[in-house]
Amino acid sequence: MVGCALLSLLGCAAFAARPEREVARLYESEYVSAAAFASKAGLSRVWLEPGKKLLLSNKTLRLELEVDSRDCLINGRRVFLGEPAVAYRKTLYISRVDRDRLLSPIVEPRQIPGPLPGLRTIVIDPGHGGRDDGTVNPRLKLSEKAMALDVALRLEKLLKAAGYRVALTRRNDTFIPLPLRAVFAKHEKADVFISLHFNAIDKRSVSGNETFILTPQNQRSTEADRRKPDDAFRQTGNAVDGWNAVLGFRIHSELLGSLQSFDRGLKHARFAVLRDIDCPGLLVECGYLSNDAEAQKIATPEWRQKIATAIADGLAGYREAVVAAKR
Ligand SMILES: [Zn+2]
Repeated sequence: MVGCALLSLLGCAAFAARPEREVARLYESEYVSAAAFASKAGLSRVWLEPGKKLLLSNKTLRLELEVDSRDCLINGRRVFLGEPAVAYRKTLYISRVDRDRLLSPIVEPRQIPGPLPGLRTIVIDPGHGGRDDGTVNPRLKLSEKAMALDVALRLEKLLKAAGYRVALTRRNDTFIPLPLRAVFAKHEKADVFISLHFNAIDKRSVSGNETFILTPQNQRSTEADRRKPDDAFRQTGNAVDGWNAVLGFRIHSELLGSLQSFDRGLKHARFAVLRDIDCPGLLVECGYLSNDAEAQKIATPEWRQKIATAIADGLAGYREAVVAAKR
């Protein structure tokens, strides 16, 4: 297999240039050349910084890859790879899982294998509720559970007006255990699952948007600095990794474009609500309640409407990609 040949090639390079511990980290993944991926996807290729930053592009898409980085930029939006891109003899390599489960689906949705996802029923999951407040901003008296429910109800209206059947995991301030949210989505025969949350962190200067999709099998999540044995386990949601990537990228892009917030990236995690659903889904962190400036915006109905509208617009982009793949 080509991938295996490249892996041994990279292994030699790594042995020559890096301490042994780092070689092991490289050995955990098969790498493929970005050039081969680009030519198959019809993307032209040019070094923005020789040996450091590579641009793959066509008329509508710009993918910027950086050596030794897990960050890449797709049309200016930050997307996290599972493994860093690496360089060997003036060629850039990306992990096979990143190519197959993330980049190729976003670049060419019609090449995603398997049946096309449905577009009828959207399940919206407002995070937390009841005795679980989620994050709070005591200074502004804001709670995540209330903000998430408000955005969910706004999004429901927009999606119903667009012709979707919509169901919510909760419509009021009640506690719903995480596993039941996925059970609900299956029961409703969800075609798309959207979980809504707001962020918080001790460092109050942090702000912005991040969007999570399920980590592919045999890959570490974005926040993990190394592989764990569980990473090898295939979750229910991994059946639609490609469409998760398309959905996540479209909605993340719209949110960033509309809110003009700091781009914390499209990331991967094995959250319970993403693991156990059997349709494409994502978890959107719609901003930081711990950042007073951002929380003040979130406190206004206009801003929450903006969030709901951006998610609906992102979903419309996903719908276009699915419809185009049918042809
Ligand atoms: Zn939350």
